[in-house]
Amino acid sequence: MLTRRTIHHLDGALQLAAGWPRWRKFERKIYCCLTVDLDAHGHRNAFKKGLPFLLDLFSQKGLEGAITWFYNCREKELGAWPDPLAEMQRRKDEVALHCHLEDLPDARCVKDISAEIQRDKIDLENITGQAVSGFRSGQLLRTPQIFAALNGCSLRYDSSCTFGRTFTVKGTTMDDRKISGNDSVFPLDNGLLEFPIWEPFPQPRQIALTGPPYFITNLVHPFNLVCNGQANQIIQHYYRTIIHILQKIPAIEFTTLSSACQIWNQQTSRQS
Ligand SMILES: [Zn+2]
Repeated sequence: MLTRRTIHHLDGALQLAAGWPRWRKFERKIYCCLTVDLDAHGHRNAFKKGLPFLLDLFSQKGLEGAITWFYNCREKELGAWPDPLAEMQRRKDEVALHCHLEDLPDARCVKDISAEIQRDKIDLENITGQAVSGFRSGQLLRTPQIFAALNGCSLRYDSSCTFGRTFTVKGTTMDDRKISGNDSVFPLDNGLLEFPIWEPFPQPRQIALTGPPYFITNLVHPFNLVCNGQANQIIQHYYRTIIHILQKIPAIEFTTLSSACQIWNQQTSRQS
């Protein structure tokens, strides 16, 4: 099923394909971070039909070890899936933290939000046995309180902002250009590095406004690839095609967000 929003994203793919002759000659490195938010939001068969597709696709494309999964500790439907984290860890992918904090009243104090984030972080670290270095806010909710709460959570990066968009959550309009002043990777006031996302498909337009270093960061949910409980063949084919095209661009290197974080720190400290 093609919604207006889907058509908008298809348009992005056409631009990508149309720009192919030039992309092929692009000389600077472009770091491409494919990320997946692991929540179902009540979509039927989101994990059953969407997750195996993604796992298969990433291994067919040789992308094991280069994917960042944002794990939502409170997503009950994930429990029905046979241990997705074990498979992600076997691949040496990155598992980062995804918290849905939209049920908290806006006025709630930073300390409480911080405690909530740290509790989920410890839960996730206990499951994986590995330190978590990244965070993404659920519903793209990114209030000053949440950013402040991340301070002191021992994280290295955030990936909750969108690429050059305004977004309204609970009546509050957030203008990401006002947060960032630009559309690419930037340090937040809380000391974390921000990797803004393009959702749901990777979009090289992201690199047009800033850089180097150049980064493309996307966000896909397993349910984006499912429609009415069934695999959405068109979208699945589309996502596969985008990755296929991106892999044909010699400048592109796929990497997890924590590696991207390191790359950004190294390259920007060398420039200054
Ligand atoms: Zn989410």
